[in-house]
Parts: sequence; C-alpha cells; structure tokens
Amino acid sequence: MRAPPTCLLSQRILQGAVIRSRAVCHAVAAEEVFMQGEADKVFMTIALDEARQGAANGEVPVGAVLVRDSNILVRAHNLVEQHGDPTAHAEMVVIRQAAAQGLGRWDLQEATLYVTLEPCAMCAGAILISRVGTVVYGARSTLLGADGTWMQLFPCQHDSESSAGSGEVLWPGKPHPFHPSLQVRRGVLAEESGALMKDFFRARRIENDGRSLDAASTGPADNLSATDLGMPET
Ligand SMILES: [Zn+2]
Repeated sequence: MRAPPTCLLSQRILQGAVIRSRAVCHAVAAEEVFMQGEADKVFMTIALDEARQGAANGEVPVGAVLVRDSNILVRAHNLVEQHGDPTAHAEMVVIRQAAAQGLGRWDLQEATLYVTLEPCAMCAGAILISRVGTVVYGARSTLLGADGTWMQLFPCQHDSESSAGSGEVLWPGKPHPFHPSLQVRRGVLAEESGALMKDFFRARRIENDGRSLDAASTGPADNLSATDLGMPET
C-alpha cells in the first residue's frame, strides 16, 4: 500500500490534534461545571444553616451568603422580626453588611450571592443595583419570586423549543442598564430549602391554631401560611 502524500498526512495529523484538543476542552469544561456545582452546594449549605438560625429566632427561614474568590465575605439570615424592618431580607442584609464593613467598593461584580429562596422584587432590585456578579438560589417562591414566578427581573434562558433559538440568554425586557451581565444559577439544594420553609410555616400554623383555640388575637403576619409565600401545602 502506498503511503499518503506528506501534505495529506500532515492534514490528518492536524485533524487528529484538533479532535483531541476539542475533547480535552470538553473534559475541562465538564470538570469546571462539576466543580462549580460542588462549590454551589457547599455555600448553599452554609446559607441553609443561616436560614435555620433565622427560624430558631422566629424569622422566615431564608439565609444568604456573599462569596468572593471562594471566601465568605458576609453571611446572614432574615432579620425582619428582630429589627422590626420589613426590608431586612437576608439578601439585603448581606449586601448592606458588605458595604458597611468596607469589604470593597459597593460594586459587588466579583461576588456571588447564595440565597436559599428565589429573591423577591426588592432583593432582585438590590442585586441589580449593587451589581452582584452572580446570584445562586435554591427553592422557587411562587408567590413573591422575581425570577419568573411573580415577575421576571433577571435574565432568563430561552428553552430549546423557543423560536428565539436554543440556549440563548435573554433579558425579558431591556437589559438592566447598570448590570447587563448578571449570571443566575437556579435550584441549588432547592428541596432542602423548600422543606425548611414548609416546616416553618406548618409549625407556625399549628401554633396559630392553638392560639385561636385560646381565643388569642393574631396579627396579619402570623396568619401567613406556606401557600402565602408560594410554598405548596402538604
Ligand atoms: Zn427579598
């Protein structure tokens, strides 16, 4: 059998090298995605610990962690009841604390915010205005969520069935003028986060039912159920 001409041989060698190079790139990308997923779980677990601490203090169990370069800058849970401040959601608390502690500029573009529940409109606004680079959240909040449940303030991924094409990241309206590059990862440890919310509101409901039997008065906040916050009743 005659050997292929030299130019054809080098072409084949080159093609083989390109294929191997692509395979290595895919493997590296897959490993990066895996490592990112593992890191997300670690930080979300810490956010869940915060949420549990909040629940122990009578707060709606939502926790948040602000991370930069794999270091935790701030961690917090809801402080609405403790501070008597309806804006003291976990995301607002960590953003404010990061700014107050002088951990850098108020611009948090290099930071990742982990939060156990889909942010509400107020917190989504704070995330955009402070230019948090990436937000990672757990369970959906089907009543108050601002990532597509009640409203859509974050960029979303078009599904493959969409006429806009597969995998295209789009903002539902115009890109946010201050922060058009926000990254969002969804559903990290969502089951644990959702279970925490359901347990909390179930316990609160039982407590309120007991109070009702004792003819005690309850405020509007005490009457909130899991359904009120978008969590399915079980
Ligand atoms: Zn909020």
